[in-house]
Amino acid sequence: MQINFIDLKQQYERHKDEINQALSSVLESTAFIMGPDIAKLEQSLSLFTDSKYAMACSSGTDALLLSLMALDIKPGDEIITTPFSFMATAEVICLLGATPVFVDIDPETYNIDASLIEAKISKNTKAIIPVSLYGQCADMDEINDIAERYKLTVIEDACQSFGAEYKGRKSGNLSTIGCTSFFPSKPLGCYGDGGAIFTNDDELGPKIRMLLGHGQVERYRHRYIGINGRIDTIQAAVLNVKMKYFPDEILERHAIGKRYSELFQQANQEQIITPMIKDDRTSVYAQYSIRVKDRDAFIKHIQSLGIPTAVHYPIPMYRQEALSYLQINPNEYPVTEVVSREIVSLPMSPYLTREQQDYIVESIVNR
Ligand SMILES: *Cc1c(COP(=O)(O)O)cnc(C)c1O
Repeated sequence: MQINFIDLKQQYERHKDEINQALSSVLESTAFIMGPDIAKLEQSLSLFTDSKYAMACSSGTDALLLSLMALDIKPGDEIITTPFSFMATAEVICLLGATPVFVDIDPETYNIDASLIEAKISKNTKAIIPVSLYGQCADMDEINDIAERYKLTVIEDACQSFGAEYKGRKSGNLSTIGCTSFFPSKPLGCYGDGGAIFTNDDELGPKIRMLLGHGQVERYRHRYIGINGRIDTIQAAVLNVKMKYFPDEILERHAIGKRYSELFQQANQEQIITPMIKDDRTSVYAQYSIRVKDRDAFIKHIQSLGIPTAVHYPIPMYRQEALSYLQINPNEYPVTEVVSREIVSLPMSPYLTREQQDYIVESIVNR
């Protein structure tokens, strides 16, 4: 049986005519930069998340960087975040000369443990970046409460959770700023790099808009030091097609994630820990990640049966060579230490068939 980790080909095949048509109309128009597809995309992103400002940009990483730039983050500032995420979350903090301060994760959701945040706040703390890992939001109410008490800004790294809901509201619009990514393998992906920034703040919105266009107020008049953070028109055109089908894909993701967990439960697999999704939120399952004790042997075995896997993420941030200058003691992060050794992601896409899923689960259960 042929199984892809994330089935990007299927999705293209399904909407091929429409996508080709959208791409060719960009090619014909030659409006490669800031073409009309971008305004259209931003309008639907704003509607979808119910955010006042929705700004498409060059990537999820740049979305995070622009958010910190909008807050004037500078050397000496501290930003609280999780050590269990993709490197970009901490990287952007360091790029501005600020210091990431890591807080251990919740043993059930693997998101930042909100109850441990307060102990890490100092007079230099400026912001908190919770990551909505694998497509499920962190405890945003608790985090926003702490931020309000200490006058900090919360930036949700929603790069894996676009389309997820928290207490009936959309990920990306749960704190002062939300950032997402349209990297091809994310729940809503384009055909290259792309991202978006969301806010309802009337100062930050226009400022971020300027920052992503070289800090320009108008052509050749620059108020801020910004970056080239634009999204390509071609990527916006692809996203405009995909946005139409995204609500259905979210439902398919819910169903496939739920079915994985049910099948594992029926098989009574005590050695496997399935994802825990809290009652007041949904996951878009950017990854369906389980925990196993003998990960190396597990991966070797199921890969030999033709089932691709991935590990998100094997090395916590504080163990990364690039961050060794922070001189962090891993013993401070007992939960991250265990989870990063045991976590493994299974194939996941809205198009995973029942047969494929049955085969994957049986292969694991009968191992
Ligand atoms: C993918 C990802 C990013 C970076 O997004 P890019 O679009 O690849 O730059 C940042 N944070 C998390 C949690 C991600 O999964």
